[in-house]
Amino acid sequence: MGKVLIIGAGGVGTVVAHKVAKNRDVFTDVMIASRTKSKCDAIVKAIGDTTIKTAQVDADNVDELVELFNSFKPEIVINVALPYQDLTIMEACLKAGVNYLDTANYEPKDVAHFEYSWQWAYKKRFEEAGLTAILGCGFDPGVSGIFTAYAAKHHFDEIEYLDIVDCNAGNHHKAFATNFNPEINIREITQNGRYFHEGDWVTTKPLEIHKDLTYPNIGPRDSYLLYHEELESLVKNFPTIKRARFWMTFGQEYLTHLRVIENIGMASIKPINYNGMEIVPLQFLKAVLPNPQDLGENYEGETSIGCRIRGKKDGKERTYYVYNNCSHHEAFVETGMQGVSYTTGVPAMIGAMMFMKGLWKRPGVWNVEEFNPDPFMEQLNKQGLPWHEEHDKDLEL
Ligand code: NDP
Repeated sequence: MGKVLIIGAGGVGTVVAHKVAKNRDVFTDVMIASRTKSKCDAIVKAIGDTTIKTAQVDADNVDELVELFNSFKPEIVINVALPYQDLTIMEACLKAGVNYLDTANYEPKDVAHFEYSWQWAYKKRFEEAGLTAILGCGFDPGVSGIFTAYAAKHHFDEIEYLDIVDCNAGNHHKAFATNFNPEINIREITQNGRYFHEGDWVTTKPLEIHKDLTYPNIGPRDSYLLYHEELESLVKNFPTIKRARFWMTFGQEYLTHLRVIENIGMASIKPINYNGMEIVPLQFLKAVLPNPQDLGENYEGETSIGCRIRGKKDGKERTYYVYNNCSHHEAFVETGMQGVSYTTGVPAMIGAMMFMKGLWKRPGVWNVEEFNPDPFMEQLNKQGLPWHEEHDKDLEL
């Protein structure tokens, strides 16, 4: 059906490439491009499909991107580099006439600030160019929005309370490691918490609110209220929502390390001068922490991510819990990566597949919940992320 260009050869990029390679009826020509070409070559070698092309590109540089797009001529770019590159890649897509998909919203490098405004500002230009941009198509954001859209379509007249619950009950046997890019991960967790309540955003101190939540096949885990980017688009696209929150589990050992990292200044994103060289402490920390791509081998346990929803159907109050559990070990056996990269990469591939099949093709800039969730939900079951649902149970929230 068409040509796809994957940008980024990290943990998520590796999973996207494996999954794209398993769906060659949809993705007829494939290229992986990243800052370091040898990492793209290593992915191709691991997949064992020599028809996949590779290239070096600096995705901060619009001209370099345009040149690459014009030579490979992809229908769609799957951006799984870092959030810092979202706008340059979107610019290049407009210049070269290429459609766009990513898994995380744009963040400026010098402020840890997450909001869609920068990317939503491209809506008119994508519309006028007849190009589709699909934002936030990983698991959360991504499947969390699709689960919500599916619930709204099939199980509720009005969604009133939405809680996205993200549990990683895995053990990688390292004292401290993050499951995806450490710089992006630590920026996300150390910021203030925030949730939506009756039309307003309520701010909390970082990790201030927490409670035990019970996850299927896992049991109770301490879960912390965080701000997460999909809350912004979901309350806009489902205006009946009265309260929307996001919860993530952390172990005590992880939180103790995080506190020390912050207290000694290593989570700072302000550049400092060290021996005549400017360095950003958090970027230096990333360089000495375990690489999330190397966690897979001894990773045990599973992730469990879902949406707990309360609202009305035919005048009656209903509850609905829809979730996926993903085994780190099974993800590793299939792709060489752990479950967090897997749960992000599989939906990114499915989103691109939805576009290629013409099911999610609509000029403009869209969040995933604005498309038909049904064909995507069907593919989740087929592509390694089966989901389960529970009706009218106690949501604990
Ligand atoms: P990694 O750090 O493992 O990989 C990022 C890749 O992007 C690396 O290959 C890196 O190159 C490449 N890259 C970085 N900067 C540039 C640049 N300027 N030009 C070209 N390539 C560049 O990150 P992950 O794979 O863990 O995460 C990828 C994305 O997925 C992130 O945006 C993250 O926020 C998002 N994510 C989304 C989730 C979701 O559920 N929605 C969950 C987890 C992650 P090099 O190898 O040379 O460093």
